[in-house]
Order: sequence, then structure tokens, then C-alpha cells
Amino acid sequence: MTFKALGIAEPILRAIDAEGYTSPTPIQQKAIPILLKGKDLLGVAQTGTGKTAAFGIPILDHLYRNGQTNENRGKRKIKALIVTPTRELAIQIGESITTYGKHTGLRNTVIFGGVKQGKQVNALRNGIDILIATPGRLLDLMNQGFISFQHLDYVVLDEADQMLDMGFIHDVRKIISKLPKQRQSLFFSATMPKAIVELSGQLLGDFDRVTIKPEQATAEKVTQGVYFVSKKNKPKLLIHLLHEKANDSVLVFSRTKHGANKIVKKLAQADIRSAAIHGNKSQTARQKALGAFKDGKLKVLVATDIAARGIDVEELSLVINFDLPNVPETYVHRIGRTGRASASGIALSFCDKEERPYLRDIEKLIKQQVPRMPEHQFVDEGENHAEDENQDRSPAKKAPASPNRNRNRNRNRNRNRNRNRNRNNTNGGKNTGNRNRGQSKKDGNS
Ligand code: AMP
Repeated sequence: MTFKALGIAEPILRAIDAEGYTSPTPIQQKAIPILLKGKDLLGVAQTGTGKTAAFGIPILDHLYRNGQTNENRGKRKIKALIVTPTRELAIQIGESITTYGKHTGLRNTVIFGGVKQGKQVNALRNGIDILIATPGRLLDLMNQGFISFQHLDYVVLDEADQMLDMGFIHDVRKIISKLPKQRQSLFFSATMPKAIVELSGQLLGDFDRVTIKPEQATAEKVTQGVYFVSKKNKPKLLIHLLHEKANDSVLVFSRTKHGANKIVKKLAQADIRSAAIHGNKSQTARQKALGAFKDGKLKVLVATDIAARGIDVEELSLVINFDLPNVPETYVHRIGRTGRASASGIALSFCDKEERPYLRDIEKLIKQQVPRMPEHQFVDEGENHAEDENQDRSPAKKAPASPNRNRNRNRNRNRNRNRNRNRNNTNGGKNTGNRNRGQSKKDGNS
């Protein structure tokens, strides 16, 4: 299937072609036709599936076509609202919408908390078609009278389960209650616990459901492995692996903010430069670290789950779970940071004794055993790492190769990637799909 076959307007086709998207991802194939028909949508899918384009393209398509026929104009009115839990995600969505809509003449802006509101208010005053917002700042500016939804046609609630986890559910309910009744509504969540089902009932009218199973994303694209290691030895193992993979961009996950800071400190002692992003860091510090990581200037980024929600790095080849998450779906989110869209990636996890139950929950969710990594030099004497109960179970997927073999594999992969890039360059200079490339301005964030 092609994007053209979905009946998308030509200026948008041109933009996604320039991004190097050759065919729609599964969620795009399923969701775009439903949305072009004007129906509400419940999308059970995580970041990394291409869901931003799945909702962004049909909204841009509608607004572009309507704008063409009504040559009314005057000041632009907000016609689409996208609510998402974190600043990083909001910025990322804003960048994608700008990219997909660059030939449509439509304007968007991004608003989020943690920064002064002046610039955001000015952008709203100047008039925009699409607003991307985090819930707290959105409600705040609505209450101050800076935002009118009188002309709103579309609302997207993105990462609803994360909104719940972050305590935004009441804000979100208030926001929904203030939207016009006549609208097309889209609701996305990676998981559907009871509170989220109830919230979707409040937002959606007559809807179609599209489910992209998380295990599809993990099992098919990401090579996984787990090291059994004591808490004490985790930093040593991390340093060892990072030395082995000195040229790779590596995202390290920590369960806590404090833990993330500690990891950065330990790495610095081993002369490995890294930065942490989490809720206690200023917005500027987070953007700076993320920018350096995306540009490849910083090879190691240490993140907590919430801060990592918006991270979309094309060249990210390795994710390391320094701690295993206690919510199994979070594991799927984490490893989905590598192996984006069609690329493949590696996710390695460190599991200490206390985390064994988390590992079991994860394996239950992804319906496969995470391959055990070979014995390593940092095994604690006191701990039994004799591959416990799983010794003779055959792995569902091949374990990642030893660090050296991985290095060769990565080298080959880079070689192939460069080869493809060169091929693309001679084929009219198409870029290979980095949505951030060629972005001169982040609306509302400048
Ligand atoms: P998302 O799930 O929206 O965060 O998208 C994940 C990544 O997939 C982003 O880097 C997008 O630029 C990329 N992407 C989205 N749709 C496609 C597509 N049809 N073909 C290739 N890459 C895509």
C-alpha cells in the first residue's frame, strides 16, 4: 500500500515523500482511512509505531482541503487540539506536524509548562490552526482566557495511560468538558486499564478501534538480552558495555531521578561523558542534552521513563535498562526507543535478585523469554546466577551476539546505512526519514 492510495492531498504526499516514508506503517494503514471518513478513533498503540503521522496526516488533510474551499480567513482559529503528557512529546509532535504540513500553509504551535508563558501567549494571539499542548499549561491558559475552542473540529488525546500515571487525569477531564460537542475525537493509549477505558468513553462518540500489539514491536524488531547482575555491580557492567560500544548512541534507563544522576556520576568517573534527563532538570537542560544526543555529539543519555517519552532518535542502536521497570508495559515502551519504525535495534537489561519478578511479568506480557546473556565478569560471588530456572528453556529469539560480534554487526549496519544514504543521495537527494532534519524552527518553542 502507498500513501497515495490512501487519497491524501498532494502537498502532504510531497512532504512525507521528502521524509523518505515509502509506505504507511500498520497503524497508519488502519487509522488513516477511518479518520479520513470522519469517524472517531481509539488507537491502542505506543510511540514508535508511527502514530503521530497516523493522526497528523488526516487532520492536516482535512484542514488543508477545507482551507482551500473556504477562502474566508481573517485571524486563524484553533481547529485541532493535540494533548500529550510531556514537553518532549509535545515538541516532537509539533515538529512532525510542521514537517508533514510544510506545504499546506497551516500553522501550529506548542505549549507546555516549565517555561514563561509570554511567547506561547503571543503565538496564540497571532492565530494558529493546530495547537499541541501538555494538560497543565493548556488548562492554565484556557482559564486565563487565551484560548478559544469555538472553532475546534479535532481533538487528539495522546498517550492517555501516561497522563493517568502522571496525575493529569483530572485536568484532562476538565479540558474535555470544555470542548465543543461537535468534533472528531481521537484517543491513543498504549494500555487500556479501567480508568483509561472510562476516559475514552468521555471523549469518544461512535468510534472504530485500531490495536497495534506491543509484542509486535518488541518481538519483531528489537533484539533483546538480559544480564543477571547484582545491584552493586551494575555500574561496572554498564561501563564495560559502554566501552565496548563507544561509537554507538546509547540510551540508559533508570527507574528514579536520583538513580539517573548517580549513573551519570559513575560514568564520569570512568571518563564516559553522559547526561541525565528527568523531571528535576530544567527544560533548557533537558532540551540541550536531548539536542546533543540527537546530533550524535553526546553518545550516552540517561533517562527516567517519563522524560524519555518524547525521545525519537533515528540512530539509536542500543537501549540499556539499568533497572527493570516494575510495570511491564514500560519495558515495551523503553525498548521501543530503539528499532524505530523499520530499523532494528538492541535492548539489554540488567536484572538483580529483587527484579526477577519484574522480569517474569515482562516475559508474560511479551510472550517470550528475554534471552539470557552469557556469564560475565561482574557476577557477584554471593549471588546465584546459574541461569536459574531457565537454563534449558530455548530462547524465543536469538540472544544478541557477544559485544565484539555486535560491534562488527553494527559496523556492517552502519556501512549498509551509509550505502543506502549514498544511494538515496544520488536518487534526487531524498532524506532518509529523520523527521528533525531540515527543521529550522520549533513553533512555540522559540
Ligand atoms: P511515532 O510513533 O509517531 O513517534 O513515529 C516513530 C518514528 O517513525 C518517527 O521517527 C517517524 O518519523 C517514523 N515514521 C513514521 N511513519 C513512517 C513511515 N510510514 N515510514 C517510515 N518512517 C516512519
